[in-house]
Amino acid sequence: MLALFDLDNTLIDRSAGLEHWARGFVRSRSLPQEAETVICDRLRDRAHPQDFVGLGAALGLSDDPGNLWHEYVDGIARSVRCFPGAREGLEALRGAGWALGIATNGAGDIQRAKLAAAGLAPLFDGICVSGELGVRKPERRLFEAAAAECGASLSAGGWMVGDNPETDMGGARAAGLRTLWVANGREWADGLREPDVMVPGIAEAIEVLQGKTV
Ligand SMILES: [Mg+2]
Repeated sequence: MLALFDLDNTLIDRSAGLEHWARGFVRSRSLPQEAETVICDRLRDRAHPQDFVGLGAALGLSDDPGNLWHEYVDGIARSVRCFPGAREGLEALRGAGWALGIATNGAGDIQRAKLAAAGLAPLFDGICVSGELGVRKPERRLFEAAAAECGASLSAGGWMVGDNPETDMGGARAAGLRTLWVANGREWADGLREPDVMVPGIAEAIEVLQGKTV
């Protein structure tokens, strides 16, 4: 059986990692404390190299944006942590015969740096990053590619675990996968079609998968 996972705020706590990095960056550059909010607001949903042109200007920095991006990639990779139970749960799923894949939106260098730093990369049969493929969730092609990297096909079914109602849950449902939503403290928005299963976090998501027939 196939299980695909989103990365940010599903397996790893990107929000906390971003806050941690922003705090250290502001301190290292002797910027005013408000700069932390500016950084977190601008990079909350996603971060790409081009975002660092505007961010550098907003912070009054004369650094080359490319250098800022690399500082960010290195710093975030050091700052991110897996949610409790994620690694152990994934290992257990592998041991039970699941094929595990990553389907993530983002730039290739930072997504792969985070996967490696968090010790997650070796646990996956396939890793698909939108920035490397030129397609993003919710597009079916990203799910297709992730399944193929796991030696599987969407037509055989499987699960998608993620935190984003539209890109993860909506996209995966349209691609024919069953959907498992991790709330991580949020409520499911009224009016949106519900996923197949809703759980508080990744540890519970993995428990649900462990209860399914492989
Ligand atoms: Mg996410």
